[in-house]
Amino acid sequence: TDFKSDAQPTWCPGCGDFGTMNGMMKALANTGNSPDDTFVVAGIGCSGKIGTYMHSYALHGVHGRALPVGIGVKMANPNLEVMVAGGDGDGYSIGAGHFVHAVRRNVDMSYIVMDNRIYGLTKGQFSPTSREDFETATSPEGTKQQPVNPLALALSAGGTFIAQSFSSDAQRHAEIVQQAIEHDGFGFVNVYSPCVTFNDVDTYDYFRDTIVDLDEADHDPTDYDDAKEKILDADKEYQGVIYQDESSVGFEEREGITESMADIPEGAPEDAMDLVREFY
Ligand code: SF4
Repeated sequence: TDFKSDAQPTWCPGCGDFGTMNGMMKALANTGNSPDDTFVVAGIGCSGKIGTYMHSYALHGVHGRALPVGIGVKMANPNLEVMVAGGDGDGYSIGAGHFVHAVRRNVDMSYIVMDNRIYGLTKGQFSPTSREDFETATSPEGTKQQPVNPLALALSAGGTFIAQSFSSDAQRHAEIVQQAIEHDGFGFVNVYSPCVTFNDVDTYDYFRDTIVDLDEADHDPTDYDDAKEKILDADKEYQGVIYQDESSVGFEEREGITESMADIPEGAPEDAMDLVREFY
């Protein structure tokens, strides 16, 4: 597509991030965006390389801090389509605080998390979404802690679009990301994106065998209680839009937000410098 750059990905052959990225590019193209009105902000980790492989404006952010950068980009230029991408370690550990506040602020952008339930780039340590009994070099007898439920975190923070997809299910994954882009507010998609090198538990076969597609389960994403029940059901792996508040209004669309941003008084930087001088 127009969104594919000439750079050759250095991901391991078979990595789930290939499928995740292809779906993101397809979804962007399907929504009518072009590379010159699109800004991708990536975090750190294997997933963080994605900005290099996509043909758009892009910025490789700081570990766990891609979201505030993306929010800044969108607030500075609301005409841009802003997509933030990262991994489970990046977004739900060091970036967990930013995640909660980005969700509740509800800026009109999308956040795509490649969740492989492990740290891949640093060679296989357990991550916030790893299972309790997952054995790794840093958890030889299991992690002995409950995994983070990112969907529950988003729902409790007031999320207005919460979805999950599987990188290998190309068509459905692209559709779900497209819905996240089209949502008026913060479109969050947790993507099962297997790490074929370091995670031999959460594999393609595992997800293929266990995923329940919400489109085939008669699910109404506007029903909050139903969404909550599914999100808290630890025994199932769901794919689809789990919750959507159709009355959502993006933060930058709210009365007074962009007006107050434009209302920066003349000479503000100079005033700020005076304040700094006074302080010291
Ligand atoms: Fe993908 Fe895992 Fe390889 Fe990283 S280490 S590129 S997540 S397969």
